[in-house]
Amino acid sequence: MKAPAELVELFRSNGKKVTPQRERIFHILHGNSAHPSAEAVYARLSAEMPTVSLKTVYQTLAELVEMGELQALDLGMGATRFDPNDMAHHHLLCTRCKRIEDVELAVPDFREFLSYGPGFAVESVELTVRGICSSCQEVQAHGGPRAESQTDQRQGSQRARSRGDKNA
Ligand SMILES: [Zn+2]
Ligand SMILES: [Zn+2]
Repeated sequence: MKAPAELVELFRSNGKKVTPQRERIFHILHGNSAHPSAEAVYARLSAEMPTVSLKTVYQTLAELVEMGELQALDLGMGATRFDPNDMAHHHLLCTRCKRIEDVELAVPDFREFLSYGPGFAVESVELTVRGICSSCQEVQAHGGPRAESQTDQRQGSQRARSRGDKNA
């Protein structure tokens, strides 16, 4: 994705209006590696600009996707997620907390293996690696993913420690 100032120019040269809200959305997305949903962008924006509408966010994201500045990812996790990283990359997806991380995998060039259909020209291959992220694994190791109060969490980790002692 281009830098916010360049996007302002690009929108204007395409005859689109650039409101302060839109400009703020460019800033929120630029270099954002969290792969936010439209709702997550809206939550951050409305904290700064309470009058903004979710519709403005949807529209701006849709226009950025249409202009090829933003990638819309549907990884089968419900909400569409948005990715400003325009370098070729793959994704690690945590099936518990739905966190998506960019990853560069040293995989061979799949185009060699994908010459099935006669004359099919492969342009890109994106892999989604599903699994459990390190924070979710830690939660699991300390008594499961149940929502616990802080006191319960402390007791939970004490239990985990005493279990560990017995095993040692
Ligand atoms: Zn996770
Ligand atoms: Zn990505």
